[in-house]
Amino acid sequence: MSTTTVRVPPGERAIDDHAVPGVSDGDGDGGVWRVRVAIVGTGFSGLGMAIRLQQAGIEDYVVLERADDVGGTWRDNTYPGAACDVPSHLYSFSFAPNPNWTRTFSRQAEIETYLRECAERHRVSSHVLYGHEVTDARWVEDERRWHVSTSRGRVVAEVLVAGMGPLTEPSIPPLPGLDRFQGTVFHSARWDHQHDLAGERVAVIGTGASAIQLVPQIQPLVGELQLYQRTAPWIVPRSDRPITAAERLLYRHLPLAQRAVRSGIYWWLELRALGMTRHPRLMKVAELAAKLHLRRQVADPELRAKLTPSYTIGCKRVLISNDYHPALTRENANVITESIDEVRDHSIVTADGIEHEVDTIIFGTGFHVTDAPYAKLVRGADGRTLEETWNGSMEAYLGTTVAGFPNLFIMIGPNTGLGHTSMTIMIEAHLEYVLDALRTMDEAGLATVDVRPEVQASYNDEVQSAMRHTVWNRGGCASWYVDANGRNSTLWPSFTFRFRERTRRFRLEDYSVRSRVAAPAAD
Ligand code: NAP
Repeated sequence: MSTTTVRVPPGERAIDDHAVPGVSDGDGDGGVWRVRVAIVGTGFSGLGMAIRLQQAGIEDYVVLERADDVGGTWRDNTYPGAACDVPSHLYSFSFAPNPNWTRTFSRQAEIETYLRECAERHRVSSHVLYGHEVTDARWVEDERRWHVSTSRGRVVAEVLVAGMGPLTEPSIPPLPGLDRFQGTVFHSARWDHQHDLAGERVAVIGTGASAIQLVPQIQPLVGELQLYQRTAPWIVPRSDRPITAAERLLYRHLPLAQRAVRSGIYWWLELRALGMTRHPRLMKVAELAAKLHLRRQVADPELRAKLTPSYTIGCKRVLISNDYHPALTRENANVITESIDEVRDHSIVTADGIEHEVDTIIFGTGFHVTDAPYAKLVRGADGRTLEETWNGSMEAYLGTTVAGFPNLFIMIGPNTGLGHTSMTIMIEAHLEYVLDALRTMDEAGLATVDVRPEVQASYNDEVQSAMRHTVWNRGGCASWYVDANGRNSTLWPSFTFRFRERTRRFRLEDYSVRSRVAAPAAD
């Protein structure tokens, strides 16, 4: 393999490509690490990338993590009742199966522990730089390297893998008067465990996947629960059960059995893509199941009417719960559908003029997804950030590479989200794509790969054209899937096996490339 001499800023040490194994050359606070791959984040994406690099024998990488532990969204979302709505056997890495899942739908703590154990077992923990919040990442053309600044030092890398995830930054709506509120305020993803809700008048704003999990947990504790609902969600039964000791024993001794179960779940859930992405009329079956579920759980016709959605099921995320609706039938619960006009010192005032006294406000209002904050931090070859380049509508090739941002791979970037199955499938597709890109770069002696703008454009035309047939575009709802320009830039409009087919091979012909030998010499 040819080596590249890089231009070295004063005070730094010149190195040859790939000469530095992992973090060992970093020197702590204020240091500069020079590695082949810099990964940002330790959620499923970042950790998965590190594990797959490790398994492929690539050791010169670092993982930048702003917190002091791994886990991403499963570390941050500790609200009561936090759990996964995708079956455990599928919501895990295929290359790191866990025969010890205790429930068919895992709770937050068990997933967080799984990720922590994966980091240890696959020897990636020593590559993680904790407390390193990325503040800026820019492509330096002269060096053909990414320069990544963090709160505690710098990293210079040939390849940048952005695994910050789409559900990272809590979104709190700018309600008039919120800053005047004298009580306690927090977001579901930043739960205040020091605060005791017992006996309080608590307002929960939002009725998405997070809120429907936390509401049944806090309802028995609080004095009064005010649930501010803008849009009713569709909810189907949750078929959760403990996984028996015998099943776990079987999976430990016969991994093939667990693989078969995983595969069965995969194909069962994949069927749902038919209704969501091809024939929204099929969603009527799911709608019927959800209506029956509601009818069985809520006897009061007035409350049931409030809780009945007015759009096609699947247009927003389909939620699963057996205890959300029952919690709302309790005496201390009040579903408020009037919009919020303002927040006062100790109350919330709704559009009907009613002032609701409140001690604590909990926002279950989701995340900055289509305006992801990482887009402000990453600068490409022309000096513009991803945010400036995207101009309100995120766009990438295969959800990962962006023209003008050489050697950048965004994990589960634009149009990779799913409404029907596990995101780990999309993450794994991206992991294999990046590995193939690294292999291909090595074999061809390439310093840079930059997706061709016309390839990216035609791919996105194809995605948007498929999007026209989906329930997300035709279901009659407003959702966070759609960006400020009215474009669905978040979801993948097809089966996951189609995405895996597309990402199976890194096609050099899709990229503008430059070879390592042609890289500029040092001064
Ligand atoms: P979300 O689905 O985005 O829901 C946000 C909720 O807040 C919605 O009900 C929304 O109402 C409401 N809202 C937003 N702004 C509002 C405002 N100004 N006034 C009143 N209501 C407002 O957020 P989330 O529940 O945190 O879930 C986000 C995503 O995280 C999910 O879609 C899912 O992908 C993931 N998640 C997954 C799990 C899991 O089990 N795997 C669990 C939790 C979260 P509208 O509906 O009217 O917009």
